[in-house]
Amino acid sequence: MALTNNFRSKLPDLPTSIFTIMSSLAAKHKAINISQGFPDFDTDPMLVDLVAEAMLKGHNQYAPMAGTYSFREAIAQKIESLYGASYHPESEITVTSGATEAIYSSVSAFVREGDEVIVFKPAYDCYEPAILANGGVPVFVQLKNKDFQIDWAAFRSKITPRTRMVIINSPHNPSGTVFSKGDMHALQNALRDTDIILLSDEAYEHIVFDGLEHESVARYHELRARSIICASFGKTFHTTGWKMGYCVAPQELMQEIQKIHEFNVFSVSHPMQRALTEYLKIPDKYLALNAFFQKKRDLFLDGVKDSRFSFTPSQGTYFQLLDYSKITDENDVDLAKRLTIEYGVASIPISVFNEDQLDYKMLRFCFAKKNETLEKATEILSKI
Ligand code: GLN
Repeated sequence: MALTNNFRSKLPDLPTSIFTIMSSLAAKHKAINISQGFPDFDTDPMLVDLVAEAMLKGHNQYAPMAGTYSFREAIAQKIESLYGASYHPESEITVTSGATEAIYSSVSAFVREGDEVIVFKPAYDCYEPAILANGGVPVFVQLKNKDFQIDWAAFRSKITPRTRMVIINSPHNPSGTVFSKGDMHALQNALRDTDIILLSDEAYEHIVFDGLEHESVARYHELRARSIICASFGKTFHTTGWKMGYCVAPQELMQEIQKIHEFNVFSVSHPMQRALTEYLKIPDKYLALNAFFQKKRDLFLDGVKDSRFSFTPSQGTYFQLLDYSKITDENDVDLAKRLTIEYGVASIPISVFNEDQLDYKMLRFCFAKKNETLEKATEILSKI
């Protein structure tokens, strides 16, 4: 018997993710895939050895629900040393299945039917489905123009008595911009005297360029008290397939997030937690990331500097936007597909992340790739 009368989709209008679309188109046409964000080089063999060692030592059963204590301690120390904020390993840190699970569990813990959640556009694609699946109402603030400045007056005008949460993301995917101190103060001022929870997606915290500092919410005492910070080991240690991340928040928020986390995943991979605990004891492993990726960004930009694309260097993340308005006025989705099929280079059109599919005539390229991959790709892009 058909069930069609018995359920209504909670996410009826959800399109296939652009990452799936572009990566499969790239595979089909054997194009260089610099669309979806993941490294095409391997992680440090030392980290793999640490996982094997943990497995051989017998750490193969459930880890504690929130993560092993020593791992949470190591995470607390990293945050304290970088941002001067102290989170209690016992009650304020949860190890999650990637930043995506941390974000979903956080939204699910606090957003109820009819609650509004403010999201800056262009936005990474996991926020909106999490809000909608929990009955929330996404409220958008579009970042302005091709430099993606934040219109703080527009932001303040979107705050209502129903605003339950604000989601920010710096370093920002897909634009490669970062929040400045001024932005953080504007945000802090706008949220003062409200009960709004701030969800800060800091997945790219260790990938910031040209001497800029990552403005973690953890640095801002007043914001921190209302905030959940989500982070990703996949981005930091070239292990996106491990799905390891964490979130930190004051205890009163964290206890609610853990109720969702516990009955969704219970706990995440035990041997990987053991391995990452050891690896975090060598801060150079994550502190060297800025320089490592800055070189890759520069190699990519050097390769396209004589092309007909124009650009502003990415300030953070492993993404670079290229503006193609001098080449064609095609819309970005069509162009991304055509470049994949006809030229053999796959990218991500960013209109899909914008409000009303606003088309800035820009494509996103991932430079977390081997130098030879980047050289091959820029050679092709320079001929377009
Ligand atoms: N974070 C990756 C990106 O922005 C995509 C991950 C995914 O495909 N869901 O490209």
